[in-house]
Amino acid sequence: MSAKNSVMVFIEQNNSKVADVSLELVSEGKKLADKLGVALDAVAIGYNLEKEVEVLGHYGCNTVFYINDERLSHFTSVPYAKTIVEIIKKHEPQIVLFGATTTGRDVAPRVASELKCGLTADCTELQIGEYKLKSKVYKNTLLQIRPAFGGNIVATIVSPESMPSMATVREGVMKMAEPDTSKEVELVSEKCGLDDSDFMTEVIEVMIEEKNVDLKSANIIVSAGMGAATPEGLELVKKLANTLGGEVGASRPVVDSGIIDRDHQVGQTGLTVRPNLYIACGISGQIQHRAGMAEAKRIIAINNDPDAPIFNIAHYGIVGDVNDIINRMIKAYKARA
Ligand SMILES: Cc1cc2nc3c(=O)[nH]c(=O)nc-3n(C[C@H](O)[C@H](O)[C@H](O)COP(=O)(O)OP(=O)(O)OC[C@H]3O[C@@H](n4cnc5c(N)ncnc54)[C@H](O)[C@@H]3O)c2cc1C
Repeated sequence: MSAKNSVMVFIEQNNSKVADVSLELVSEGKKLADKLGVALDAVAIGYNLEKEVEVLGHYGCNTVFYINDERLSHFTSVPYAKTIVEIIKKHEPQIVLFGATTTGRDVAPRVASELKCGLTADCTELQIGEYKLKSKVYKNTLLQIRPAFGGNIVATIVSPESMPSMATVREGVMKMAEPDTSKEVELVSEKCGLDDSDFMTEVIEVMIEEKNVDLKSANIIVSAGMGAATPEGLELVKKLANTLGGEVGASRPVVDSGIIDRDHQVGQTGLTVRPNLYIACGISGQIQHRAGMAEAKRIIAINNDPDAPIFNIAHYGIVGDVNDIINRMIKAYKARA
């Protein structure tokens, strides 16, 4: 493989619009490509997406390899995997990135297994660096960083001996760049090499369930942990969020207990958020929760345990009973408003 080989991003679409996770990956892929001094390419599969993929240029993508076929309007595992494999074989990128979404988790392992290359799931950081194995030194290899062993260690995973290096990244983990609308992408049409026997499943109907909360674009998030998981505590968390014009988040055990919907979960297996203000109410601050909120601009933590780990990352810590403190915060805010 030549050192000029590109970084490539698999583009997902939601309702014929480029998914946010793909724009985040293009933004991150651009940094990796610049570090390597190579182009950033994308592979987009679907039907009538020519206009939609133009946006990729604004985020630094050089070329989109585009496969336009009505049979590919909706994602199905085998046809998409086969098509991506063909594009990778033809263009030989050195790195391929997928969103760790339902689609990405389905298709990326199929592609990796067909190409017999390494795949690291749910990376939280990607870097280009050096890796030494005994006397061998691999330069400019992809360092795929992610929590491992239940979050107890942060592992750096490399797969320098097989190409390409492939990684999946969850939505929200990588920051979307500021778009530069003056930048354009080159659209290269690729032939669809599939025949009808490749389409083993047929999509009959697509039902889209709207989310009832949008944590990703919220400026203020008030989150409930197990310390606020009583009916009264949760009501107060919601009231504080309402008072401040924010959204309600939650830790995983609160979601698992069934008192709030999974769309509210923040953390390693939930959402990664970057609000201006994150108020953690009765949340201990385990690494899996912190993975989803540590990049909030300001963090206020309320906890009755002064040694709770959340205080290590909080900008303001309040030691006390969550119900009492929230009541006082609402009162104080209303008195000032
Ligand atoms: C693979 C894996 C993935 C995971 N993914 C996630 C994830 O995405 N998101 C996530 O959140 N977790 C996740 N977890 C779980 C995580 O490890 C923690 O168990 C979880 O974050 C703890 O939630 P908590 O802080 O609400 O509960 P606890 O750890 O039980 O903490 C409750 C806190 O509330 C305080 N408290 C109790 N009563 C009061 C009161 N009256 N007033 C004030 N404070 C009070 C306590 O001092 C304590 O610090 C994951 C775990 C694993 C293994």
